[in-house]
Order: sequence, then C-alpha cells, then structure tokens
Amino acid sequence: MSSVHNKRFVDQIMVMFGRETKKPEQFTEKAIQVHQLKRMTNKEAFLNASKEAHRLQQLKSQKWRNRRWATLIFANLLFVISFALDIQILEGALTASRFVGFHLIDLNSALQVMLAHKHIINNLLIGTGTVLLLWVLLGGRTFCSWICPYHLLAEWAEKLHLYLAKKKLVTDQVMDRRLRTVFWVIFALLAIATGYTVYEAISPTGILSRALIYGPGLAVLWVLALLFFEVFFSRRAWCRYACPIGLTYGVVGIISPVRVKYKLESCFHEGDCRKVCLVPHVLDTVIKGRAVDTEVAIGPDCTRCGLCVDACPTGSLTFEVKGLSKLM
Ligand code: SF4
Ligand code: SF4
Repeated sequence: MSSVHNKRFVDQIMVMFGRETKKPEQFTEKAIQVHQLKRMTNKEAFLNASKEAHRLQQLKSQKWRNRRWATLIFANLLFVISFALDIQILEGALTASRFVGFHLIDLNSALQVMLAHKHIINNLLIGTGTVLLLWVLLGGRTFCSWICPYHLLAEWAEKLHLYLAKKKLVTDQVMDRRLRTVFWVIFALLAIATGYTVYEAISPTGILSRALIYGPGLAVLWVLALLFFEVFFSRRAWCRYACPIGLTYGVVGIISPVRVKYKLESCFHEGDCRKVCLVPHVLDTVIKGRAVDTEVAIGPDCTRCGLCVDACPTGSLTFEVKGLSKLM
C-alpha cells in the first residue's frame, strides 16, 4: 500500500471511533488529475449530469436491500422454527447459539462475559473463534445490517422519521459520534466492576432475538422506547451513537475482504448515497475533491447494507471482495 492509502486506512479507523472526517492532504497523481478535470467541467454541465443522475436513480432497483431483508428475516426465523419444531438446526438465540452442532457465540457477548468473569473462558473461545472467522470473511458490521433484528425495525422507524422530517414535524438531533466509543468503554467497565454482563440486559439485539424465539417480555418496552426516540428525536440514534456491538464488529471489519468500493471517475457527487447511509461519515470520500485515489475502499464502519450501491445512479459504488473481481 502507498503512503496515501496507509494514511486513509488509519484515518478510516479513527473516524470509526468518532473522529470527525476532514479533507485529506495527500492524493495519488491519478486522483489529482481526475479532480482537476472535474473542476474544469462547467457548472451547467455538472448540473445536467446531476439531473441525469437523479433520473437514472429512479430506474434503479432495490436489489441489495431486498436480498438483505430476506437474509435477515430468514436467519431470525430459523431460530424461531428450530425452537418451535424442536429441530436442531439453529438453537439458542443470537447471543449464543448452536448451528447444526457448531457453537456460535456473539463476539461482544463473549467479551462481556470474559470481562465480567475476569478471565479467558476456553469454551467461549471456541464458539467465538468460529464467529470471528465468519464475520472477518463476511465483512464485520455485515452482522448489523444482514442479521441484527433491531436493524430492520430501526430501518422502518427511520422511514417514518424521514417522512415526519419532510413534513417538518420532527428534526434530527445529531449527536457526537464519540459517544459510541464512550458507551463501549462504560459497558466494559460495568462488566468488570459488577461481574455481570450489564449490556446484555439492555441490548435490543438480544432482547428482540429472545422475544422472537421465546415470546416477548417487558424488555420489549425498552426497544419500543428506543424506536420512539429514533422516530421523534434522533435518526438511527442507537446504532449511530450507542451500540457497542456495532463498534466491536466494526473493528472486526478492519481486516475483512468484503467491502464497498468507490470509483471517482464515474461519480456525479450528487450525494444520493450519503442520504440513505446509516453511517454517512464512511462516505466522505464521495464529496467532491475528497477521494484520495480513483478507487477507494469504504471504511470498516460500513455495514455493507448495500443501500448506497442501490442508490448510486452511476454505479460508482459496488461490492467487492478484495483480491477478487467485484460482486455486483
Ligand atoms: S449497531 Fe447494534 S443494534 Fe444496530 S444493527 Fe448493529 S448490532 Fe444491531
Ligand atoms: S456505505 Fe453503503 S453499504 Fe456501507 S453502510 Fe453506508 S449505505 Fe450501507
């Protein structure tokens, strides 16, 4: 990797922990040429290109969103069906499960348990190792958008929030993204200090997974309160500013080969991708003049949800597996 890419890689990690994005100082020669060319394009031509981009966007399908929703619903239903029919395909819940006999333990939960017990538990390591390998291969925060049941509910709540915001009935209270890192540390310290996995009691991921399988309890009210907060006060607040699971899987995603790739040359910079993204800071590279190279990998906080791939009118954002050709 060149020094430009090394710097970008480190920056993306810092941004995931909550640092603000900023305009890069170093660019590759090729990127400088493309940026110059784009600057020379007159405003009217750019506006026309932007209008054309919007027209093309209307014609695009929501292919990745549909695939993702189908996968998320299928994975969560598999738990429900296995329990209801007492078949041993996928037993347990998202926090800890057994898939045809293989132990799977959620990384964040395993970490919390070990912090609470203050030692490394060998049995947990085996289940965690399988899950770690799986999510390294599949993309870290892919867990969020392709598996987490709260993500789906929050996506629907977000649509309601955006509708109300358009009608000027609500506004989005933007918070400091560093909060999520602070919460991660607080929950880790709470586990150490109390000997309990405090976070598990309030994790909407675990609450919803258990509610689906074993039936809802009072804890579901907490999830409803979170959704209410997101609809009326702050867009996608839990996943953006609080959830430690998202940050844990984000760290896993640093070394993942599955990512979204951005191509500078075909981009109109109309920003449709940033409007649909849960973590728009990862797409700072699409802002005019910001891409450090003509091809840039999107950072590890990306949930690989594919909404930007669906939204991009010019195909400038695609999924790829590092070292292999693009997925779509
Ligand atoms: S950030 Fe947390 S709640 Fe949000 S999708 Fe990821 S795991 Fe689920
Ligand atoms: S960058 Fe694209 S794939 Fe990643 S989270 Fe944002 S919209 Fe989803």
